[in-house]
Amino acid sequence: MMAQKLSKQTSAKTEDQNGTIAAIVIGSSIAGLTAAKTLASYVNQVTIIERDEPGCGHNFRSGVPQARHAHTLMPGGQEILEKLFPDIIAELISKGAVPVDIEKEVAFFHDGDWRTPQQLGRNLSISCSRPLLESALYQRVTALPNVTVKRGYQAVGLVADATGQRVTGVRLRSGRGANAKKLVQPANLVIDASGRQSQAPKWLASLKLTPPEEWRINAFVGYVTRIYQQPANFAANWKRLYIRPTPPNSTRGAIILPEENGRWVVTLIGIAGDYPPTDETGFLAFAQSLPTPQFYNAIKSARPLSAPFGFRQTENRVRRYDKLPRYLEGFMVMGDAVCALNPVYAQGMTAAVMGSYALETTLKIHQHLLAAGSVVGLAAAFHKELHDTLNRLWVQSTYKDWEWPVTEVTDNAETLPNFA
Ligand SMILES: Cc1cc2nc3c(=O)[nH]c(=O)nc-3n(C[C@H](O)[C@H](O)[C@H](O)COP(=O)(O)OP(=O)(O)OC[C@H]3O[C@@H](n4cnc5c(N)ncnc54)[C@H](O)[C@@H]3O)c2cc1C
Repeated sequence: MMAQKLSKQTSAKTEDQNGTIAAIVIGSSIAGLTAAKTLASYVNQVTIIERDEPGCGHNFRSGVPQARHAHTLMPGGQEILEKLFPDIIAELISKGAVPVDIEKEVAFFHDGDWRTPQQLGRNLSISCSRPLLESALYQRVTALPNVTVKRGYQAVGLVADATGQRVTGVRLRSGRGANAKKLVQPANLVIDASGRQSQAPKWLASLKLTPPEEWRINAFVGYVTRIYQQPANFAANWKRLYIRPTPPNSTRGAIILPEENGRWVVTLIGIAGDYPPTDETGFLAFAQSLPTPQFYNAIKSARPLSAPFGFRQTENRVRRYDKLPRYLEGFMVMGDAVCALNPVYAQGMTAAVMGSYALETTLKIHQHLLAAGSVVGLAAAFHKELHDTLNRLWVQSTYKDWEWPVTEVTDNAETLPNFA
């Protein structure tokens, strides 16, 4: 399977690349794993760099702090994952993910009423924890013969060639303080999929390249989540409950998602700075204050398995890599590192996996260049493709946020939704 799509015409070697493509993917979460899977068919070698230590894969890890909170995988994202990783949905169900019929088993309260979620012709949706989803993808990707992972290494910068035009590697650090090891991992194609905390704009600036323009739309959303054991005798006509806040005044919402081992992920949502409290009494009081009693009634006699955890890094933020005046050849950015969305609309993972579609499209068009060891033009083409792919999700996830009175918007962000 390795590099099957690379033709054998690698004799047309370039001076500095020897006709092979060694790729690095920074980050082993949703965007990084789907990028690595896609790349593996087009390049000779993929090295994933992940700063979390080995052995953390199945538990909550510090590199993905949002993983503790309710994560709904939208049917569109699920469909792309199934295409990239055949039978992954059946595998996840066999490992405890809960199948949910969107039409019949989701209670969705919005704008003062119960509604049927938009289905787009796809009814099956699975619910599971982020660690289960990530570990299933991780196992599939690391089983590929040309993919390796360096865990416990943090990417801290990029290396460019003498002309400053082409990426030649990534600076890595492992460990801290006096014991920290520093090294350079060579590569001629690098994808940064390090999430919201991506340092790519600073890395580009340190190479004297223009960093991307950044748009931010912040509706001041806070999540607080506890894991509960679903009561054994619980009976309701839903498996998934979602109360979505409605602008401009109904700032409170909540989610119950089933996951493996009969657990519930129970999340409170507050928008426009109406953040849910993280103490147990406040958690229940907030639950009681929701616009419908179903949520509180479901959890009031359920057994909590964790403390409440809060999270507020939720603003919509897009970095316009598609508009860069000049690209560092071979360097691309994906997932939340490019486009991070308000989680209330549950589009982030779908956006991350849609990036792999944009990547596949671009790699396919450039495969003859890749076969000759060249990545010239790839970054520019990819970022335009990615922008076209994600523009609709950006608009869908942001246009309601304008309606909250306290929403802050950076001056440069586009003011009108553009579905064109
Ligand atoms: C509270 C909350 C709830 C959410 N709910 C949903 C939902 O219901 N549905 C949905 O689809 N999306 C949801 N999202 C969005 C979703 O979490 C993200 O869109 C998704 O995780 C993005 O994936 P990613 O791979 O780009 O980044 P991340 O998942 O953030 O992963 C980044 C990876 O990079 C690694 N890393 C970071 N820096 C470095 C470095 N310098 N060197 C090496 N490794 C590094 C990290 O350890 C991590 O593994 C939610 C987000 C939040 C905040």
